[in-house]
Amino acid sequence: MNALAFLIFLLLSGLVSAQESADPMPEILILTTGGTIASRTDAPLIAGPALVQAVPELLDHAEIKVEEFSVIGSSEMTPDHWLRLAKRINEIFTEKPDLAGIVITHGTDTMEETAYFLNLTVKHDRPVVLVGSMRSSNEVSADGPGNLINAVRVAVDEQAAGQGVLVVLNEDISAARDVWKTDNRRVQTFGASNVGHVGTVDPDGVRFYHRSLQPHTKDSEFDVSKIGVLPEVYILSDFSGIDQTVVTGFGRQAMDGLVIRTFAGGRMSKGMQAGLESIADHGIPTVVTSRVPGGRIVDAPDYAFPAVVSNGQQDNKARILLMLALATTSDLTEIQRIFDTY
Ligand code: ASP
Repeated sequence: MNALAFLIFLLLSGLVSAQESADPMPEILILTTGGTIASRTDAPLIAGPALVQAVPELLDHAEIKVEEFSVIGSSEMTPDHWLRLAKRINEIFTEKPDLAGIVITHGTDTMEETAYFLNLTVKHDRPVVLVGSMRSSNEVSADGPGNLINAVRVAVDEQAAGQGVLVVLNEDISAARDVWKTDNRRVQTFGASNVGHVGTVDPDGVRFYHRSLQPHTKDSEFDVSKIGVLPEVYILSDFSGIDQTVVTGFGRQAMDGLVIRTFAGGRMSKGMQAGLESIADHGIPTVVTSRVPGGRIVDAPDYAFPAVVSNGQQDNKARILLMLALATTSDLTEIQRIFDTY
């Protein structure tokens, strides 16, 4: 009996059903928020469903559902957007136990903030992958479609579960804790200063080489389900020659917490130190970060005011962690523990 006859025999005998042998495709939800990936150089941002319909190759990897969350550039993202997005993702994962993962299309300008906030507040270990592009959809060599396909490929890959929130761009996979935008123009803009990318998306498959070891998602202690408004945390950057009155004036703002972006190693100008000493009695929990992306502050100077020292988090991410910490405590020892943990 030749091969064809044998196959017909198997099909007729019901041993192999063409239907049974076809595994169902994993389901991925694409939450769209806006950004350059949804933009055209000569027209308004593309609405969510149209963005996805423009990339039919997505269907080679998953059954795709689309939900439009917002249609904004990511420079317009606010802590309220982060909070609502985290709550929506937790609600979706709870309601859809069979959903394989979520891909979020997002602007690259503040993608690292949204990714970091979600990394600390999504209470599930199924993949959440943020993706964007550096070129508009109608520019020559637009990078959006390829990035979106790669983001879905990562989201359906079984290695991606439990990795925390991920960012995919330019065939690189980055962990939310460490990713930052390093270039204003280049498609390889995302770097991860201390640890590098955690994996790659290659034509022959998704590869992971590292994982983020600090607690995230299900292992994070932060629960935003009952938070209506996040604490207000401001960032103040040191600069050569700053006058202490700049700091004292800033200190009169109504804020719940303060992040200082210092020179390397936590070292500050005399004006910044004098200013912070003068507002120390305001009791504003203050976190010191370094403007230098690599490494962390070790042996910080002996400040004449109470301060928490960041654990390598840059100012924009230290702000997010301080917001979440202040939602539960204002005790500096406890906040230092939180920074040393995450
Ligand atoms: N140029 C940005 C982007 O790459 C715009 C934004 O962040 O929304 O998406």
